[in-house]
Amino acid sequence: MYQHLPVYAGDPILSLHEAFMADPRPNKVSLSIGLYFDEQGRLPVLDSVRKADQKLREQERPSGYLPIEGAPDYRAAVQKLVFGADSAAVAEGRIATIQGVGGSGAIRIGADFIKSFMPGSDVWVSDPTWDNHESLMQGAGLKVARYPYYDADSNGLRYDEMLAFFARLPAGSVVLMQPCCHNPTGIDLSKAQWSGVIQVMKDGGLVPFLDMAYQGFGEGIEEDAWAVRAMVEAGLCPLVTNSFSKNFSLYGERCGGLSVVCPSADEADRVLGQLKAGIRRVYSSPPLHGERLVAAVLDTPALHQQWVAEVKDMRERIKRMRVLLAERLTAGLPGMSVDFLTEQHGMFSYTGLTSDEVDTLREKHGIYLVRSGRMCVAGLNEGNVQAVADALIVVLRARS
Ligand code: PLP
Repeated sequence: MYQHLPVYAGDPILSLHEAFMADPRPNKVSLSIGLYFDEQGRLPVLDSVRKADQKLREQERPSGYLPIEGAPDYRAAVQKLVFGADSAAVAEGRIATIQGVGGSGAIRIGADFIKSFMPGSDVWVSDPTWDNHESLMQGAGLKVARYPYYDADSNGLRYDEMLAFFARLPAGSVVLMQPCCHNPTGIDLSKAQWSGVIQVMKDGGLVPFLDMAYQGFGEGIEEDAWAVRAMVEAGLCPLVTNSFSKNFSLYGERCGGLSVVCPSADEADRVLGQLKAGIRRVYSSPPLHGERLVAAVLDTPALHQQWVAEVKDMRERIKRMRVLLAERLTAGLPGMSVDFLTEQHGMFSYTGLTSDEVDTLREKHGIYLVRSGRMCVAGLNEGNVQAVADALIVVLRARS
């Protein structure tokens, strides 16, 4: 009956993680999958989340269905975190927010919405981008293509080319960007560069789709949302997705959000209605435990404060690992510039390694990176950074 089905090649990143788990070498290091590991190499359970969980369990609340669009307190908390506590657009009721099944589920609901209500709008993603961006958009039946972003020669941004490219796009085109901690390159825009993008988008009638999966992992929780807020203040109406997988370490709870900024409260009501219709025919209503944890932390001042401090610890640990790796590489490879490591933001770094070099790292040294050369810096710790640097030095020396 199903003989004609092609075999699924597997998701490249998840398959690598499976290979890592099956690797018997004791000193193996996982720098492939996008997970934040702590100094002991474990997925952290945040103390703020643990406390919220204890409180919720004591309350023994029943597990009824959530509304289609998600829990009201959670959705309000998403709006505050993403758009700011003093956002005029939030106060004016101009933002339609739904709870997402993770950031991925939120992107897909946004993609379905574009497909249904923005006919003829193609989606443009950065070259490169998180692989699943393309799959999620294509899964909704949208046409997806890439705009210039990463410059391999300088390990930097092709800013001027990107801007010129945006200026040529037809009005109504959807441009997917990441406000902070770009996955997979780690290369973010400066505020001045964002201002240039905003102007071109306004002039050309483009629709920004901002995907923020790492809020707090770049410069700070408020700072990382700067581009989102600047766009709204400039009068643009972005679709914004966010995820709590990383900054709450709640990957499996599938907590995210989609917020569609609208010109008026009336339009936001209509949009919310159609988002609900879209959700109803896909998964009917979202899951509830993770959402309760996030809302409890964000709505309880003491827990909120503790969470902010925990995100800061994660962010600073990632930055420390970037510095340590750069120092050790510089010691072993004098003359080679690795400044990009400390200039990039968030969990990922595009190393510039070729796929052959990545294969050598994995096969000979048990160090796993994505074949594009993407390294998850959050997998480094004081115990493995020297071994990773030593292996990289061996591989990079073999170049010359
Ligand atoms: N967007 C980007 C850029 C990501 O890197 C990820 C996850 O890795 C997501 C969205 C989706 O996150 P979630 O795990 O919440 O679905």
